[in-house]
Amino acid sequence: MKQFSDFPRVSLGILPTPLYRLPNISEAMGKNIYIKRDDMTGVALGGNKVRKLEFLIADAMAQGCDYMLTTGGAQSNHAMLTAACCDRLGLGSVLVLKKRGVWQKLGNQIINDLLGADVRFVDSDSYDDVYKEMDRIADELRAAGHNPYLVPVGGSVPLGTVGYVDCAREIFAEALEQDIKINHIVSTAGSGGTLAGLVLGAMLYGDGCKVTGVAVCDDPFEEITAELVNGAAEILGADVHVEPKDIDILRYYGAGYAQPSKEGLEAITLMAQQEGLILDPVYTGKAFAGLMHLIRTGKIGENETVLFLHSGGTASLF
Ligand SMILES: *Cc1c(COP(=O)(O)O)cnc(C)c1O
Repeated sequence: MKQFSDFPRVSLGILPTPLYRLPNISEAMGKNIYIKRDDMTGVALGGNKVRKLEFLIADAMAQGCDYMLTTGGAQSNHAMLTAACCDRLGLGSVLVLKKRGVWQKLGNQIINDLLGADVRFVDSDSYDDVYKEMDRIADELRAAGHNPYLVPVGGSVPLGTVGYVDCAREIFAEALEQDIKINHIVSTAGSGGTLAGLVLGAMLYGDGCKVTGVAVCDDPFEEITAELVNGAAEILGADVHVEPKDIDILRYYGAGYAQPSKEGLEAITLMAQQEGLILDPVYTGKAFAGLMHLIRTGKIGENETVLFLHSGGTASLF
């Protein structure tokens, strides 16, 4: 198997991020609940996309690219972090966003403005239209003498997924240092790369640790995640193959993507008032609500220690 150091990588994150026990919620739930603070990755407002971008931007730079093009919803954390990382590295970026939901100057659109990001809205619900527009902008940039690198939604390609295989390695190293055994990891599934990296990393380094993804929309995450696990295993040279049935998904998102759920809002309030930590209504609030649901329904066993991955997303509160 390859080493992570065999891949080009730019240092963007402040790593490792902290991993520690949530004392008050653990007490209340009668279970050892730990948190991995990937909301503290150290660029802009932090979040999971920084780990993927360390590999994706390095790959772009190795190919001589000077522009990153990416996409997402109007409030995409991934797009905002792409612009922030490119600012730091002196690269250009264009964010081609779906003009749906909250596209006004709120949340990440305020941050995008501060970053001087080049935001182009596409007035369509279909990613086919969005990718067509990305291709058109890429052609325009090439005609102007630039060399653009295109990243699909969420940075969820095998190379981006490697960032979360490395995060899993980091998690189990921290657990060893703290002399704890993590039996179960719960994370959000939005475009699948984070979950896929954790699944593969748990298989490689986790000694039987289970991983559950809490879906934030009705995409077929079993298929998407399995494909990314196998793709990342291939580029890492790891002898791993999974099927969609091997991927554990909890659908606990309420009415739909980015529509706050009652359970998610309760989880945000609980985390704030018990632990002084801030979750968001689109991803992490629903994921933590899902974790509590797994505990209540006995899907997380009696003596298991569970780790919640805080993937960021704070701007969605505003
Ligand atoms: C993108 C995102 C996720 C989902 O990660 P994927 O790798 O896209 O599945 C979770 N939480 C936050 C805050 C995000 O921005």
